[in-house]
Amino acid sequence: MQDYIDLAEKNGVTLLASGKCQFCGANTKRGIHECLEIFNLGFQSIDFSQVKNHLYRFLIVDAHTLQHPEIHGRWNNHFHLTRLHLIFKYDVKWAYKLSPILSNYLNTYKANKPNEYLTPPEVLKRGKITTTDILENATNETACKALIVKWAMEVYNKWNNHLAVVDNIAKGFLDGN
Ligand SMILES: [Zn+2]
Repeated sequence: MQDYIDLAEKNGVTLLASGKCQFCGANTKRGIHECLEIFNLGFQSIDFSQVKNHLYRFLIVDAHTLQHPEIHGRWNNHFHLTRLHLIFKYDVKWAYKLSPILSNYLNTYKANKPNEYLTPPEVLKRGKITTTDILENATNETACKALIVKWAMEVYNKWNNHLAVVDNIAKGFLDGN
């Protein structure tokens, strides 16, 4: 994430240093920078070292990335939307070891579709729940987990224009594994 400023520049986006997050609308004072800090350090009520809690880490990364595609490379959208699709639609029990397998599958896929681009939903229309909502409202582990699932589901639904594309990728991934 250190290079998010460079990525924004590459994507032609000027990052605003104050106010709400310009991408997700989180109730921050230092914009995307604070939104990323919460993403990186927040949600401490969950013990992410436990395998049973890994799912929430994946959902956080997917939801946040898809709410902020301007600070990521374009193929990250394929990866994170496909992963949410595999988790929500195909009930895949995601594990860390599956991520490089999906990445490898996508590397082959994108070589055949170099111009495919998943146009993100408009800024501020990528799901109502944001990092600050979770920080403010998730007062305990159970509430935090429930809100993270809701957050990821909302973002996933906002990207539904591309579900046919990611369903195709998901099937290819499942066939190969
Ligand atoms: Zn944000």
